[in-house]
Amino acid sequence: MRCAHCRRCCRETEMELSEGDMARLERRGHRRQDFAVMGEDGIPRLRNADGWCVFYDAGAGRCREYRSRPLGCVLYPVNMAEDGVIIVDELCPQGGTLSSRELAERGRRLRSLLDTIDREAEKR
Ligand code: SF4
Ligand code: SF4
Repeated sequence: MRCAHCRRCCRETEMELSEGDMARLERRGHRRQDFAVMGEDGIPRLRNADGWCVFYDAGAGRCREYRSRPLGCVLYPVNMAEDGVIIVDELCPQGGTLSSRELAERGRRLRSLLDTIDREAEKR
């Protein structure tokens, strides 16, 4: 896929976080309560500030934690619809550049990630 680095996906993010994502970001020196918001469904999501993900650097126009970003951000624009079907998020202008192989691979990893996040939410 050819990402245009337009950063639309960092605006008003609702990205779900696994325990692994949060532990990785904590090892980078961030406090969980500063970057995550717990939903009523027991699922933590990235926090926003001024309409952008807290890790978005508006001045530089980039993610401050790109190498440690949540797996959901890595797999984006592959997403899962409410009926469980793997889709390409229409918000991303470059979704059409995903190859069928990338779509299948990211879809497989996304299913696994969301299963993990759901299991973690059930334990809370
Ligand atoms: S919306 Fe798509 S093209 Fe834009 S930064 Fe995100 S992944 Fe890249
Ligand atoms: S963690 Fe980085 S890539 Fe993910 S939404 Fe935030 S700024 Fe964007």
